[in-house]
Amino acid sequence: MYGTKRYTSWGRYPKATPEQIVRLHWLDQLPRLDEYQTSLLPFGLGRSYGDSCLNEGGTLLDTTALNRFIAFDRVNGILRCEAGVSLAQILELVVPHGWFLPVSPGTKFVTLGGAIANDVHGKNHHKDGTFGRHVTCFELLRSDGERLMCSPTQNSDYYRATIGGLGLTGLILWAEFQLKRIPSYLIDSEDLQFNGIDDFFELSRLSTHYTYSVSWLDCTAGGDNFGRGVFNRGEFFDPPLGVDKPHRFPPILPVPFDFPNFTVNNVTTSIFNQLFYHKQVFPVRRSVKPYHSFFYPLDVASDWYYLYGKNGFVQYQLVVPYQDGYDHVKEIFRMIVRSGQASPLIVFKTFGTLQSPGMLSFPREGVTLAIDFAFKGETTLQLLNQLDEIVFAVNGALYPAKDARMSGAAFRKSFPNWETFVPFIDPKFSSSFWRRINAK
Ligand SMILES: Cc1cc2nc3c(=O)[nH]c(=O)nc-3n(C[C@H](O)[C@H](O)[C@H](O)COP(=O)(O)OP(=O)(O)OC[C@H]3O[C@@H](n4cnc5c(N)ncnc54)[C@H](O)[C@@H]3O)c2cc1C
Repeated sequence: MYGTKRYTSWGRYPKATPEQIVRLHWLDQLPRLDEYQTSLLPFGLGRSYGDSCLNEGGTLLDTTALNRFIAFDRVNGILRCEAGVSLAQILELVVPHGWFLPVSPGTKFVTLGGAIANDVHGKNHHKDGTFGRHVTCFELLRSDGERLMCSPTQNSDYYRATIGGLGLTGLILWAEFQLKRIPSYLIDSEDLQFNGIDDFFELSRLSTHYTYSVSWLDCTAGGDNFGRGVFNRGEFFDPPLGVDKPHRFPPILPVPFDFPNFTVNNVTTSIFNQLFYHKQVFPVRRSVKPYHSFFYPLDVASDWYYLYGKNGFVQYQLVVPYQDGYDHVKEIFRMIVRSGQASPLIVFKTFGTLQSPGMLSFPREGVTLAIDFAFKGETTLQLLNQLDEIVFAVNGALYPAKDARMSGAAFRKSFPNWETFVPFIDPKFSSSFWRRINAK
């Protein structure tokens, strides 16, 4: 901690200590980046799980005070703001005018710069692709002082390198993007229980016309219940309720201290999963709810990473291509269930065919699975190495925003374009992640 702000990643593994933090305040009073002795890395709200937002021994450029709106075209839904503005701030501004984020990750406490640098995806990937697809332009500051205006037609190579570029190509100062029209602030949502991986794929196939969908899997259920879960899909509720209701997020419950390392274990996870799966009396539950309950259920608690204890946790997010029978997905999931290591937080979703714009964008057509594991040292790392074997045997990929341990070889397999990307890295910029995957 420096002051009251946390400069760790969300998973708190691995730990890293930057040499200094530089808080940026005004676009016209930025420090000269070439005068720093150590490497530089932008830092937003630290919602990346592993070490892609960390810079051991280097300088973190804290962007969160670059949080001003620059222009909002309410008629056409085009928003331009500084890179440290959070998605929560954007929602507060735009929803009452009938606009929404084109794509949103599972938390609104993410900066615009962070959303671009990881080219984040959301529940509507199959319809709208990644966040980067909606970015019309941004300004990139390089350490030699050059300011590049980047768009699909201007400095388009820097545009494609910076979207999903892990903060390595320079500092995004501001960005402009296209919002999405919404008829109300409510979501018409359905939760459907399913009884196995095949049922999940069948539901996905039948739900492609829904704009939003995502599923939860029970990682403790074996036998007949193997692969059961809840498929959630939804759509913005069409009038007559309107969007201009008082716009308030629910209060945030604090998680004020570290829980014991054993708090999240197979028994507590199993109890939670039973309750979660059976919370609906009928196999299908329909409800109309405010958008924040639908998109951001985890945001109701602050700092919930404390639940995993001081050792922290890792998230493992993979994408694998479709294959007949989905045996590879079943095998991955079987290994996770057998290990007894997963926490209740599992997200399962299909990615659509829309091309991601970034050279290193993670989303691509296939199935994605994101799982949280309380970090138990070698035991956890061994399991993840075994999962890697299946992922890479079928030409899958891992998501750097969630990664704390993938090898250099795994990174290069995940991102065959990495050699095209490297020339765009700013010579003064680096991260713990980048050094790690280049060291092995
Ligand atoms: C509960 C939860 C749910 C999530 N759900 C999803 C999800 O559904 N989909 C998804 O894709 N991700 C998801 N994420 C991950 C999260 O969206 C990304 O890690 C996001 O990039 C974090 O943004 P941040 O502002 O916290 O940036 P940080 O984590 O601080 O930094 C992320 C990267 O952005 C770079 N960066 C930040 N600002 C700038 C800038 N101004 N210029 C250049 N580079 C910059 C950093 O250097 C770093 O490489 C989730 C995370 C959490 C905690």
